Formats: sequence, C-alpha cells, structure tokens
Amino acid sequence: MFYLLNILIQMKILLDNTSLFKSLRPYNDLGFVPTMGGVHKGHLSLINKSKRLCRTTIVSIFVNPKQFNNKKDLKSYPRDINNDLKILKKTKKVDFVYLPRFKDIYSDKNKSQIKLSKKDTILCAKYRKGHFEGVLDVMERLTKIVNPKKIFMGEKDFQQLYLVKKRLEKKYKIKIISCKTIRDSNNVALSSRNFLLNKLNLKVAASIYLKLVNIKKNLKKEKNILDFLNHQKIKLKKNYKIKIDYLELRNIKNLKVSKKTNNSRLFIAYYLNNVRLIDNI
Ligand code: AMP
Repeated sequence: MFYLLNILIQMKILLDNTSLFKSLRPYNDLGFVPTMGGVHKGHLSLINKSKRLCRTTIVSIFVNPKQFNNKKDLKSYPRDINNDLKILKKTKKVDFVYLPRFKDIYSDKNKSQIKLSKKDTILCAKYRKGHFEGVLDVMERLTKIVNPKKIFMGEKDFQQLYLVKKRLEKKYKIKIISCKTIRDSNNVALSSRNFLLNKLNLKVAASIYLKLVNIKKNLKKEKNILDFLNHQKIKLKKNYKIKIDYLELRNIKNLKVSKKTNNSRLFIAYYLNNVRLIDNI
C-alpha cells in the first residue's frame, strides 16, 4: 500500500527536452507553473491552483539570462536547486519538474521578433530595458515546448502577467490563470529576491507596505492624484532613503495611468540593499 502511494505521488525530474517530450506524450491536461526557482509559498500557491484545475502539473525552474538587463542581478539571483526540489516534492502536488539547460530553450535559433509597443513601455518596461522582451520570448519558447492547457502566473508580477496573457492567449490555445499575491506575516510580498534581504530590510519592506495601503486609502479623497503620488514618492524616498523607480496608480484592465481608484492598483518598484523589489496593491 505504502509502495503504491509512493508511486502515485512520485515527482519526475526532466533534465532535457528529449525526456520531456517522451514523458509528457500521454498527458493532455497539463497545468504549467514556470519559475526561476528560489521556491517559496507564492510559487506553491500557483501549484495548488494548478492541482485544483488540471489533471497534471509541471513546474519549470530556469533562470532565464535573457530577461536580466543587469549582469550583477543575474549573478546574485538566488539558486538552490536541491532545496527547491525538496520543497516541491514535499507538496506531493507536482508531477513533473522541468530543469532545462540553456540549449533546450534556445536551440530554436529563430530570432525573437518581440518588440514592446510604446504604450507598453511603462512601469518595469521603462526601467528594465529588454526585460519583458526576454520574458515574452522565454514564455513563448516554454509554451511551445511544454504545450500546456493552462499556465499559472502571479499577480505579484502584474505587468508580466498582463503582457504574457495579452500575447500568448492570442497565439496559442492556452489560458493564463492569474493567482493572488502571497505575503509573509508582515504583508511583504514573497519573492525569491527576499532571500537577498536582511531582517532590517524586511522590516523596512513591511513598513513601506503599510505606507502604500495608507496612500491608496488617501487617494480616494485626492483631487489631483498625479500630484499627490509625486509628493508621496518624494516623501518615501526621503524617509526611507531608498531609490524608487515608480509609484503609479494604473488601471488593471489596460495598465493606463488612472485618475480614479476603482479598477486600479498602486504599483511600486524600489530598491532595498541594492535589491529591486516590486509590489502592487
Ligand atoms: P519567479 O520565480 O519569481 O519568476 O516567479 C514565478 C511565478 O511565481 C510568476 O508567475 C510570479 O508572478 C509568481 N510569484 C512570485 N512571487 C509570488 C507571490 N508572492 N505570490 C504569488 N505569485 C508569485
């Protein structure tokens, strides 16, 4: 009985495309959770949703060099494959883990034609040149290789979710399923990059979250939202001694700058300990 159970909950590791194509052939209801590793509860919430909505769940771990606009950031990105596999196995919800090599993803030499439109060159696209071109390219390649029915992505990376959904749902027979942001006990959005923060940094991040909630609440009373947010940005920069790329209220349907709070989220990107953090509430 125990043996049977163990077989049922086995998690198969796929180290290259040959084993992936062979192993996935019998499965036609695949839920796919693409990650860059540094597995945390945010990733696990995506896996849980996939398990609920799909018969089979595959997680990929691939730190995609082409989406990093900064070499240092790529080098310091947290990597601990053994620990990731341990956590994934413990969930008993993952059927396959795909750990591609660079050549598995990029053997198709067709040069990516992806270019963001001017109206999409906002928020992170404005501050991380080439980042989303790299994300969209790798997501398209992964979609062609894995051929899933559904892809699960987090609202924590709202702009990524928005751009990937817009592009891939039009081109392929897939659904992108959005998943709520998971936070720690102090409401800091979980992120693999948080492994690079110390306790004090995390305390500051928790305090910034509270400030954001307050700012969003006060936005409702403001006549000139743009001015108010500019002022709040200056205050945050000064009080926390941080660099802020943006603090903007945007419509969740089209990511246009919002002058009203309904259907809108407050987006922020800032640096703590040289680590770039993003959030939206
Ligand atoms: P990453 O490994 O950071 O590339 O993230 C892989 C997927 O997990 C992406 O779809 C992210 O949006 C999602 N994700 C990351 N952090 C969180 C979080 N705190 N809550 C929910 N989803 C998340």
